[in-house]
Order: sequence, then C-alpha cells, then structure tokens
Amino acid sequence: MFLLIMGPPGSGKGTQAKILAREFQIPHISSGDIFRQAMEINDELGDELQLAINKGQLVPDDLTNRIVARRLRKDDCKKGFILDGYPRTIGQGDALEILLDSLGCKLEKVINLDVDSNVIIGRLSKRLLCKNCGASFNLITNPPKNKGVCDYCNCTLSVREDDNDKTVVNRLKIYEEKTKPLIKYYDDKKLLCNIKGDVEVTEATKAILACLKG
Ligand SMILES: [Zn+2]
Repeated sequence: MFLLIMGPPGSGKGTQAKILAREFQIPHISSGDIFRQAMEINDELGDELQLAINKGQLVPDDLTNRIVARRLRKDDCKKGFILDGYPRTIGQGDALEILLDSLGCKLEKVINLDVDSNVIIGRLSKRLLCKNCGASFNLITNPPKNKGVCDYCNCTLSVREDDNDKTVVNRLKIYEEKTKPLIKYYDDKKLLCNIKGDVEVTEATKAILACLKG
C-alpha cells in the first residue's frame, strides 16, 4: 500500500498513520521524524536543514524534497509506506510524483482527515487556566465544577493562551494557504478519500479502512 495521509494540525493524522502502518505492515514516514533524523546525521543535508531551522524559516521545498527522497529510496519502502506531513505544498506534490515515478511506484490513495480549522481553534479557546495553582480545565471536555472557579483553590480561572496556541494558529494559517490546495490536487487525480476527522479514533479508522477497500 502506497498511502498518504493529510489533515490540519490537530486532526489526529499521526495517530491514524500509526494504526494504518501496523495494519498494512508498512513504514510510517512522518516528516517530523525524518527531519529529526536528518539533523542527527551531520552530512550536507543535515547541516542545510539545521541552518534553515535556526533561521526560523520554513524549510524550503527543494531541501524537504531531497530529505524525503533519501528516505523513500530505502529498501523498507519498496512494498509501501504511509506518508504523514509531506507533501505540504503543490510543489512538493509534483516532486513526490516524479520521485515515485523514478522508483516505479505510485500513490494508491490519499486520505484526507477533514476537520474544520475553526473547530480546532474553537477547542483551543475553550481552555481555562488557574493562574494561582496551575490547574487547567476545558469548557467542553473537562469543565470546572463551579463556573469560572478553580476546583482546587477557588481562584478565578482565565482563558488559557500560550505560545503553543499561537503556534497552532500559525500552523493552521500556513495549512490553509499552502497545504489545503492539495485536497483538490489529489481529488482531480481520483486518489482522495475524504474522511470525517472530528470523530472517535476507532470510528475514523473504520471509515478509512472502508474507503481503502472501496
Ligand atoms: Zn487553582
């Protein structure tokens, strides 16, 4: 199985990718993992990547493509893989197609976990924090016993906003702009499995497996 899984940050695609890798006995190729591995090797690619990340830039397409290509040429990918977090742009999608052509294989399905960005941002904005004792709550999944008051120290709760939230919102913006066009790109190639991602993990897995068989 040559698979690709897509979805906005917070859609649970990493979790699904791991489940599918086990199900089909194929390697889970996550862009985060291969970037980390690439930086541990002190060769030309690793140094170039470190430099781009130190500058706080997005890793350029060309460099990303070369790092992914090196991974996909390994023997364990001959019978399939599930790509997670790559491609992130149309340019990377084109590069992937050329690479797979040269390896004599092609993508069989592209799974898109459909979770509205607003839902993800909404989840973040429902987080509450006690500045006194550090306890955290969530209006939906873990509400405090008394509205607006900490269960542990009775102090007033405030809306939680941290660097992590800002990172997610920023990643969502980049996703909307650069990655979302890939949904139509793969739909046009008749490869897309659009899966409702805003459900239980097992339910999403079931829907994915059904689509892969279809
Ligand atoms: Zn408290």
